[in-house]
Parts: sequence; structure tokens; C-alpha cells
Amino acid sequence: SVVSVQKALSGDIGTGSEVTVRGWVRTRRDSKAGLSFVNLSDGSCFAPIQVVVPDSLENYESEVKRLSAGCGVIATGTLVPSQGAGQSFELQATAIEITGFVEDPETYPIQPKAHSLEFLREVAHLRPRTNLFGAVTRIRHCLAQAVHRFFHERGFYWISTPIITTSDAEGAGEMFRVSTLDLANLPRDAGGAVDFSRDFFGKETFLTVSGQLNVEAYCLALSKVYTFGPTFRAENSNTTRHLAEFWMIEPEIAFADLNDDANLAEEFLKYLFRAVLAERGDDMAFIAERVQKDAITRLEKFVEAPFARIEYGEAIRLLQASGRKFDYPVEWGLDLQTEHERWLTEEHVGRPVVVVNYPEHIKAFYMRLNDDGRTVAAMDVLAPGIGEIIGGSQREERLDVLDARMDKFGLDRGHYGWYRDFRRYGTVPHAGFGLGFERLVVYVCGLSNIRDAIPYPRAPGQAEY
Ligand code: ATP
Ligand code: MG
Ligand code: MG
Ligand code: MG
Repeated sequence: SVVSVQKALSGDIGTGSEVTVRGWVRTRRDSKAGLSFVNLSDGSCFAPIQVVVPDSLENYESEVKRLSAGCGVIATGTLVPSQGAGQSFELQATAIEITGFVEDPETYPIQPKAHSLEFLREVAHLRPRTNLFGAVTRIRHCLAQAVHRFFHERGFYWISTPIITTSDAEGAGEMFRVSTLDLANLPRDAGGAVDFSRDFFGKETFLTVSGQLNVEAYCLALSKVYTFGPTFRAENSNTTRHLAEFWMIEPEIAFADLNDDANLAEEFLKYLFRAVLAERGDDMAFIAERVQKDAITRLEKFVEAPFARIEYGEAIRLLQASGRKFDYPVEWGLDLQTEHERWLTEEHVGRPVVVVNYPEHIKAFYMRLNDDGRTVAAMDVLAPGIGEIIGGSQREERLDVLDARMDKFGLDRGHYGWYRDFRRYGTVPHAGFGLGFERLVVYVCGLSNIRDAIPYPRAPGQAEY
């Protein structure tokens, strides 16, 4: 029977069983004793399986001896305990079928050696064949499954929010505009160049920067909801923490305040990290060996430690008193930069920090104005090694205060009529947050560039494949 490499190595199949495994060659080594050892990987687990091929097979000289990294192979044989260190079982092949050779093994980009991450970004379509990207992909999957499981277990419903929208959500970032193009009949200017300026059936539309406003509507009917989907920001800066296309997880809870929101964020992150520790031990061990030495211990620490909570005003005082020279100014009324965030979480408290109650003028219009009239009920969750990982708030549920804030931000009430409706028809306190999924993957996998946390990164100068 056909089994995955993971199944073959698991010990669930009896010794001496006849099985078929299918995958791609990692390495081939020939012994003088007339045997070849072919390591085969199918992505089902971190480890490849060793296939022992005797020279008695009829295609041994003609095909097996030509196998190189990347070849597609179907191997049938007997599963036996392995003598080799670190490997539970191996396959003693009775037949090997090669589905595809590698055209030119010498120039095959993924050689069995460590490649630089910069190089691998250039071959984003082949990098999943490396140990690192196999591990990152499985961890990313584990996190995504855990996200849905966490919310499902707590009675949240998953809501898909639109990708094409007319709202700029909060001025959260630069947006991409959507145009309609009739490919068969491209509009051209006088010079014959394609005119890309046409919009969405006569309306100006953008790619969403956040699903929050839409998810609020569902929260105010179904009580606990979340969206998990792609978002787009035309970030013009070339940073290691920003992508032009990234995935965001945005839960929203009714009858909730900022404190409930912070509790949810803490419970959520810890749940996700526990899932990775429990389910992806093999991949995390590789990450700890090759990428980030303390990858496992810092997750273990993270799930143990209660998050610290610091008022924004207090954070400013602490930063000013730190004696540290920062590149960006620290002053009440200015947003915190990554260097400030990292100092707070890494050097000041040494564990994750939730900073709450930011000045109202640096946060979005929908955040709830506090009684002091100067701050809003906003929070950022800061994690050691990365800085902001979650941004959230209690939402302004009072129509008059919301209107006043929209006026102050120069937003058109007519344009947000539908959003004002929630405050006109049965308003209730509610809160939510946004977690950038790739920031999470970066953190768990100890990566230093967010472009390695998503299969096909979209960033300035990077839109191929
Ligand atoms: P930053 O200060 O890092 O630019 P932000 O405050 O603009 O983030 P929010 O609008 O609060 O981000 O979005 C919520 C979350 O989405 C952030 O906490 C972060 O995890 C993630 N995020 C924001 N922008 C990006 C991006 N360009 N690429 C990847 N993740 C992002
Ligand atoms: Mg930003
Ligand atoms: Mg920020
Ligand atoms: Mg933010």
C-alpha cells in the first residue's frame, strides 16, 4: 500500500510490511557493497526515509545510479528497522520507478547544502524543497489550524470579509487601487500604451487593509466572530517586518472591553504556541539547531509568563528614564517605534507586554475615547525579539463620540453610513484586535525577514511567481 514517509517512519506499520513511498530525492550515496542509499522526502514530516536499493534491481545501473537531488521517485519495498542513527525505519527496495529526472543536476538550484535565504527568495517556487522551508510551511500550517480551532472551541464564527472595498478602514496604510481591465479589449491611450486607470465598474475601489469594520457588523449579531484572510498594504518602506500582501487574524467580541480584549490576545497567543510545541517538535528541533538556538525555550517561556500591562504614558516615562539613545524621539503623543517596543519587552520586563491607552490622535477613529479625553482604549501586544505583533482596541460604541472623532479625522460620515448604523441600532460595547499572521510565523520560526514567513512574498521588487 502507498503510505506517507511520516507514516512509514511512525512505527504504526509492522516490520516486514510491503509498502510504497513516493517523493523527491534528497541525496544518493552508493556503497561498494552494491547498494545505493537514497533519501526520499515527501514533506509529510521533517525526516526523509532512507531507501536501500540493491544493484540487483533491473534499472539499477540505467536509472538508480543517475538519481540526484530533486528527482521524483516511487519506491516499493519492505519496511525494516534501521541500523542507522536517528532513523527508526528504512525501506529495502524491491522496485524503483523514476517519474522525473532533474534535467541538469549540476545547475539544479536546490543542492544538498545550506543556501542563503536571499538566494532562496529568488527561487521561491523551489525553496519549499529545502529543510528550512519544509519546516516553516508545516509550522505555518499548524498555526493556521490552531487559529481556527482556538476560535471554534470558544464559540466564535469565522467570517470572510471582502478583499475589494471602498473603505480605507482607518488610513492604516497606503492602499492598492483596483482597476477593471477587459483583457480582450484593453483601453489604450493615444500612444498605444495600456490605460490602467479604469476602476471597479465605475466606483473607486481598493484592496482591503483590514477586515475589521466588516467583522464588527457580524460581531454585533453573532457576538463572537473572527476573520482570517489576506490584507494588502502598499508599504513603500523596505523593512523586514512588512509585506505588501499578508494575512491577518481579526477577532471581534461583543459586550467586551479592552481588558477582555487583552485577555483574549494573551490566551490566543499561548494557545497557538502550545500547539506548535505539541505538534511540530521535529520541525522546531531543526529551527533550534539551524535558525534560532532558543526557539523552543522561548516559546515555553512565553506560554508560562503572564503578560505585563503598561499604560502608554508609563511606557513613555520608562523609555525616557532608560538612559538609552534611541534613533526616534520618545515623547508623549508620538507613536512607539520598533526600537522602543523592543526595549520595553526585551530589556525592561523580559516578557510580552501589552501597552494600553494610547493618545487618541495617533490611533484610528473607531477606537473608544477614554474619560480623560486624551487617550483611547487601544492596545498593542509587544513580543521580545519582534515588537508589535498585535494591535487592538475597544471600539467607540457611542454614536455622538464616534461622529465627533470622524469629524476630527476629516472622514466623511456619509461614506461610513453603514458603519454608523451599528451605533444607531442596538449599540453595545465591543472590542477586537488584529494579528499579522506572518509576524507570528516569523516569531515562532525565529526568522529575521518576514519574506521567509509566507510562500510567495509580495514586497517592493518582489511580485514574481
Ligand atoms: P506596524 O506598526 O508594524 O507597521 P501597524 O500598527 O501598521 O503595524 P495594524 O494596522 O495595527 O499594524 O495591523 C495589525 C497587525 O498586522 C500588526 O500588529 C502586525 O502584526 C500586522 N501588520 C501590519 N502591517 C503589516 C505588514 N505590512 N506586513 C505584515 N504584517 C503587518
Ligand atoms: Mg504600519
Ligand atoms: Mg504600530
Ligand atoms: Mg498597530
